[in-house]
Amino acid sequence: MEYSCNLYELRCGECGKSYGNRPLSACPDCFAPLEVQYDLEAVRGVFTRENIAAGPANIWRYKALLPIPEGFAPDLPVGFTPLLRANNLGKRIGATNLYVKNDAVCFPTLSFKDRVVSVALANARAFGFTTVGCSSTGNLANSVAAQAARLGLDACILVPADLEAAKILNTQVYGARLVRIDGNYDHVNRLCTQIADEYNWGFVNVNLRPYYAEGSKTVGYEIAEQLGWKLPDNIVCPMAGGSLIRKIRKAFKELIALGLVEPKEVRFFGAQATGCSPISHAVKQGWDYIEPQRPNTIARSLAIGNPADGPAAAKMIRETGGWAEDVSDVEIVSGIQELAETEGIFTETAGGVTTAVTARLYAHGRISLDEITVSVITGNGLKTTDALEGCFEPGIAVKPKLAAFDEYLRSLDAATEPELAYAGEAR
Ligand SMILES: *Cc1c(COP(=O)(O)O)cnc(C)c1O
Ligand SMILES: [Zn+2]
Repeated sequence: MEYSCNLYELRCGECGKSYGNRPLSACPDCFAPLEVQYDLEAVRGVFTRENIAAGPANIWRYKALLPIPEGFAPDLPVGFTPLLRANNLGKRIGATNLYVKNDAVCFPTLSFKDRVVSVALANARAFGFTTVGCSSTGNLANSVAAQAARLGLDACILVPADLEAAKILNTQVYGARLVRIDGNYDHVNRLCTQIADEYNWGFVNVNLRPYYAEGSKTVGYEIAEQLGWKLPDNIVCPMAGGSLIRKIRKAFKELIALGLVEPKEVRFFGAQATGCSPISHAVKQGWDYIEPQRPNTIARSLAIGNPADGPAAAKMIRETGGWAEDVSDVEIVSGIQELAETEGIFTETAGGVTTAVTARLYAHGRISLDEITVSVITGNGLKTTDALEGCFEPGIAVKPKLAAFDEYLRSLDAATEPELAYAGEAR
């Protein structure tokens, strides 16, 4: 189970040894994660602003720098989500050049995981797997199930038993086999490593992980292109396994190396929930290792206590002059509401983390108000409505009569705080 390709191959990040293209995530010699490396000179003439602009309005416009096996013609229009100027949110938190990258509306399953899964499954096919799967904190499960269905692959998906109901349903609806495991994500992931070997299945974030991770680069390519082929000053990005934040940087480096953007050192800021903050903790302590944690947070999509790319992410954040922060569950809920109220974007708990951390970075002066900053929103709020339970009342049902409506409004006015009631009288 191997395929040959002269444009890219797996290489060990530590010892540099090459492994060709095969389903393997870590170097057998030094246990370091493997990375896909490209022959950048070979794509120099192809990966140009003009060719990209002439490509489809989805991630496949960047196909020349994605590990897509020859003969696989990707046709799912994944990605190319909006990059919005967030002036209203900016006003609230003291930022004048703030943008939101909105993967809450990524196709087909409303999270950035659609990007990584589409690249991983292209490789699953090339390696001859007929069953694919993943260990998931929710969004990955949804995306593997949906894309496997379309590719005609069997899917077996393992999740922690306490996952949100919506994320379970959003996996089962595609016909995937879903197995709830009585444990946390780290238990699930360890089990998947054993299953992948035993059953010869393609697990997108286990034995296919190096290919999977490359899909995250498209967030970086899109941000640069949508800013008019410019790099921002800062990126604020949520972290679970620590892969996405690193791959956005890899994308920027490739764009610089190929001359698509002016060289610039972008600062990277990582965001986690305090209830599962092994990477932000390492950054704050100045460690180059991770102390695993037992997750306890409503941000379940980020709840990885022992993140595979955690050490590398912590090191990279410090190298760029960035920082990492973590926020409480109460702040996460406020973050969700703040983004919804100011920009009309309903994000899930991970987006609440990112929004709350972004606000804190400005408040603490880690980012100054006029720098170009992109806050990366990675998932959709409709999947984690449990987090907002008790925040809103549906209210009583009002009779369909104008008089009843008038009375209803008056009763609301009477119930509001004295300050507002007084303003009403003064009119
Ligand atoms: C998986 C996930 C992340 C984090 O991705 P990593 O690459 O594992 O750090 C962020 N946001 C959401 C919504 C996710 O599902
Ligand atoms: Zn090695």
